[in-house]
Amino acid sequence: MEGQPGKLVVISGPSGVGKTTLLRRLLADLPALVPSVSATTRPPRAGEHEGIDYHFLAVDEFERRRAAGEFLECCRVYGRQHWYGTLVAEVAPRLAAGKWVVLEIDVEGTLAVHGRYPQAITIFVEPSHPDQLFDRLQGRGTESPEAMARRLEVARRELHEAHRYRHRVVNESVDAALAGIKGILAAEGFADAARHDPPPIPAPAR
Ligand code: 5GP
Repeated sequence: MEGQPGKLVVISGPSGVGKTTLLRRLLADLPALVPSVSATTRPPRAGEHEGIDYHFLAVDEFERRRAAGEFLECCRVYGRQHWYGTLVAEVAPRLAAGKWVVLEIDVEGTLAVHGRYPQAITIFVEPSHPDQLFDRLQGRGTESPEAMARRLEVARRELHEAHRYRHRVVNESVDAALAGIKGILAAEGFADAARHDPPPIPAPAR
């Protein structure tokens, strides 16, 4: 597959649907996938690390980079106090190098990415039941009641955007959703892109 540009995979869906867990498992199982590390103005949560979970930026730094056109997409969705965005530098050079790059972003961001990369493989992860979102956000315990109510309100609206995605996966269980995503990637040609044939063994000199 040398010389072929890579593909952009966007895993998206409402807040609390379990995208982060799915992505972590997916990256562990398919090491040829390259994650894009988003930038955010949200402060790190316990256990999160700079450059791994996010690039944690001050608001003025985020704004400067936004004005400089460094983001492929960024948004401050209603209901969130913080900015989130995908840096062009995380995506474009890797696609040019033939890598498959994965974004885990919200619904508004996905629609913006779709405008710039119409060929992006967009996957909407949906809950098996809307209560799943509430339970998961509550279980996370990191949100104030007001912030959680806002996230749920946004999530409800986001569920209505599922039809705009190329693929949909129900997060009935992590294993089932993971299998669904792997099936989609295989159908999109990932197996070929990820296959690295070992170099031929030279014939022994006689
Ligand atoms: P959290 O604050 O829980 O890490 O993430 C909140 C939401 O922001 C999640 O739905 C996540 O998918 C989304 N998000 C993370 N990074 C980005 C990004 O770069 N762009 C956009 N549009 N959303 C993002």
